[in-house]
Amino acid sequence: MSNTSRVAIALGSNLGDREAHLAFAVRRLSAAFTGLHVSSSYETVPVGASGPQPLFLNAAAVGETTMTAAQTLEYLLNTEQQRGRERSRPGAARTLDLDLVLFGDAVIGEPSLTVPHPRFRDRLFVLEPLAEIAPDLRDPVTGATVHQLLARLQAAPPPRHR
Ligand code: ADP
Ligand code: MG
Repeated sequence: MSNTSRVAIALGSNLGDREAHLAFAVRRLSAAFTGLHVSSSYETVPVGASGPQPLFLNAAAVGETTMTAAQTLEYLLNTEQQRGRERSRPGAARTLDLDLVLFGDAVIGEPSLTVPHPRFRDRLFVLEPLAEIAPDLRDPVTGATVHQLLARLQAAPPPRHR
């Protein structure tokens, strides 16, 4: 049996048919991950955007894979492309954003692949859906569970949680 890793993914959309983009992502994720669990969708106010932007639909998913972290991120970015994702400028509205939040106990610090995701501990729109489906998942950097990270953030939210 090969090595499997438990993976957490953050899903977001604030451009076009948001429900359809997220539903497409869930179909693609269920093709690549076993035991996939998906949270409900949360409508959230954009944070860190450069100007006014439509509301997001956010969700989280967890599942298992035998892919490497790099292969997993490539799969996520490829799935974004299939929904016509464009990167006009950082923080621009997007049809589909798939961020790799946790990849087992992996800690990777490359610009093209940073895991755990560098900003997930400050993002309610990641921690709330993730806590719904995987509260006991542990951040290998701080040692805190998702539940604990969410409680911390709710107690002392930073001025801008991006
Ligand atoms: P953001 O999600 O922060 O708004 P993008 O989706 O445009 O930004 O991602 C920009 C780049 O970040 C991607 O091309 C990807 O290579 C890189 N990246 C590094 N680590 C991660 C990660 N854990 N999840 C998603 N993208 C990542
Ligand atoms: Mg992204």
